[in-house]
Amino acid sequence: MGLVVTNTLTRKKEDFVPRDEGKVSMYVCGPTVYGDIHVGNARAMVVFDVIRRYLLWRGFDVTFVRNYTDVDDKIIARAAEEGLSSEEVAFKYSAAFDEVVASLGIAAPDHPVRATEHIPDMVEMIQSLIERGFAYEAGGSVWFAVDKFKDYGKLSGRTLADMRAGERVEPDPNKRQPLDFAVWKAAKPGEPAWDSPWGPGRPGWHIECSAMSMRYLGTGFDIHGGGSDLVFPHHENEIAQAEAATGEKPFVRYWLHNGMVNMGNEKMSKSLGNLVLAKDLVAEVGPQVMRIMAIAGSYRSGVDFGEASLEQATRVSERLDSFRRDAPAGGKLSEEGRQFLNRFTEAMDDDFNTPVALGTMQEIIRRGNTLMGTSGPDDPQLPGLVEALDEITGVLVGPVAHAQAEGGSDSPTAKIEELVEQRDRARKEKDFGRADAIRDQLKQLGVVVEDTPQGTRVVSS
Ligand SMILES: [Zn+2]
Repeated sequence: MGLVVTNTLTRKKEDFVPRDEGKVSMYVCGPTVYGDIHVGNARAMVVFDVIRRYLLWRGFDVTFVRNYTDVDDKIIARAAEEGLSSEEVAFKYSAAFDEVVASLGIAAPDHPVRATEHIPDMVEMIQSLIERGFAYEAGGSVWFAVDKFKDYGKLSGRTLADMRAGERVEPDPNKRQPLDFAVWKAAKPGEPAWDSPWGPGRPGWHIECSAMSMRYLGTGFDIHGGGSDLVFPHHENEIAQAEAATGEKPFVRYWLHNGMVNMGNEKMSKSLGNLVLAKDLVAEVGPQVMRIMAIAGSYRSGVDFGEASLEQATRVSERLDSFRRDAPAGGKLSEEGRQFLNRFTEAMDDDFNTPVALGTMQEIIRRGNTLMGTSGPDDPQLPGLVEALDEITGVLVGPVAHAQAEGGSDSPTAKIEELVEQRDRARKEKDFGRADAIRDQLKQLGVVVEDTPQGTRVVSS
């Protein structure tokens, strides 16, 4: 039995067969950086971090790409509100995003990509769409003609007639059809703009994900992830653009969508007043509890972040911490440990069934506590069991588990880990000034680091 995943495109559970054997190419839609993210966004990031960690643990060579939408109407509006430039707003909130996801132990992408750094890729794709008759220029903007793409609606399962009846669409006198969407927007005075064959302007939101995902992962890449609220229109439009531009070769093999977070049964989104910021929740409950809450239900279903879920996740987290404090370190995996790992694999292979995987984690803790209660922490069966627990928490809870067990996120180890991760990210983004500043900070903590092709390595501390 191998891994099966639910593909939104086919609405079925399918065997997961990657494009290239042993490798997984994966793109997840990231934030529009115009404000602090709420817990719903953070849950999506945790879900895809767990999926990525599991695929790595399963032995796949994973390439993970996530974007920052750093030019957008919402950013422009926020810039006017805050008296900043769009660039300043994007910089401020992408840094805030990085900080909150790092605090949750979410590993940085292999390619963190920014829309504003890939305008030529998008312009090229738009040109190809126009040449192939799928897009048209009008008034300095370029529109995608949805009725030219015969499969429009295949992801969301809607017909053009449904969409015409059901959707509120932006009116624009330049559009031929109300459902046509902008791939390039003509510049308005004072807005950020780039030169293009159609005059100064900026890309539409959807085109950035089509262009940047294929730039790094090629056509027909393996997994495209995002929240279920992105299925229509964002991902539907991504498919239309990508497949129209490349001659209708399949864009993505498996579409994975996570459910929304509910607080008191209302969907969390920025348009509602009941948002809870991720950074506030992490500060209040800690990263481990937040991660457990995020995966306590299947990634595809909605999760509740109410009182009861919080209490339950807190109990699981406390049991894990207290077991880690009392139990010995992991050793050679025992037969019993291997059996637990088999059950974990079986659960995760079944469309990443994290509730069952969390259950297996708790069974190991119960078994370990029983052994300790009978013969104390020196029981020879414990290290082989703890080893299995470490493997599982490495996937589900990530690096935050150890940090927390070692005395909260302020412990020196956690602090060093966090700085090393931040420095790797700065180097990846070629922000060498910041990387040097972090190296100095590490030096003050007594840590000397060295750069390797795999990232920052701690050579002495
Ligand atoms: Zn996207």
